[in-house]
Amino acid sequence: MSGILYVVATPIGNLEDMTYRAVRILQEVALIAAEDTRHSRKLLEHYGIRTALISYHEHNEEARAEQLIGKLQAGDSLALISDAGTPCIADPGYRLVSRCQQDSITVVAVPGPSALVAALSIAGLPTDAFSFVGFLPAKTHGRRQFLEQIKDEVQTVACYEAPHRLLSSLADIGEICGADRPVAIARELTKRHEELFRGTVAEALEYFARSSVKGELVLLLGPTPARQPEGTVRDALMHLRQTTDLSWKEIVKQVAKQFDLPGSDIYRESLELRQEE
Ligand code: SAM
Repeated sequence: MSGILYVVATPIGNLEDMTYRAVRILQEVALIAAEDTRHSRKLLEHYGIRTALISYHEHNEEARAEQLIGKLQAGDSLALISDAGTPCIADPGYRLVSRCQQDSITVVAVPGPSALVAALSIAGLPTDAFSFVGFLPAKTHGRRQFLEQIKDEVQTVACYEAPHRLLSSLADIGEICGADRPVAIARELTKRHEELFRGTVAEALEYFARSSVKGELVLLLGPTPARQPEGTVRDALMHLRQTTDLSWKEIVKQVAKQFDLPGSDIYRESLELRQEE
């Protein structure tokens, strides 16, 4: 019988955010694979966890995955943690998890903090659907190309960004996606200097230019504003007339809202159609 690989989330700043289950699993497994063993040892000491640690990071991922698979196949259960938050979310882990699946080794999530979800949960931007793009490209050319691809996105776009690049990224976002576009920037979540900025890209630029930006942050770009509906006002009026039981008054009201035009304009346009009826 193979062991189980537990993918365990750890706090993103506030040590009280560790779950009871995470502590128990980390105590029970034979070995913990951690991004930075020195960093994680401090975390484990805080909870009195004495399980052995082994490094698993982006530079040894492939070779280490093989070694860990060997241990799992021999029957040992292991835990995977990253420096903070949920492993595999802009963090190493994907290779090991996918290797486990190839070899029919059970992988179990021990959920908990993630900066991405924490930021989305308080940003006040639409979250019914969103895309997460990891870190924005660090170089200007790549970043601008990337922004061109997402500028018309109708969902919230979430990314991680380094503090020293925030201003240049915001400047590019403003130029390419629009200075009026809504953004939310969640900084130092769960920590002493936690802060949530909400406003337009232009306001964010002004706000963050006042002093040097420090700490960790998540940048959320609101959806592109609703586009003008396709077709003409006349098409929209006819469509509602033919497919609904709405009164002309109600139809005019809906189409005015849809096209963001004064009701009186839509009413005038509807008169022609009414006469034709
Ligand atoms: N796997 C982690 C997770 O689930 O949150 C993310 C790892 S990624 C390498 C690290 C980035 O996450 C940071 O550079 C920052 O953009 C974001 N981040 C991590 N902790 C944060 C915090 N407390 N507040 C805001 N952003 C944070």
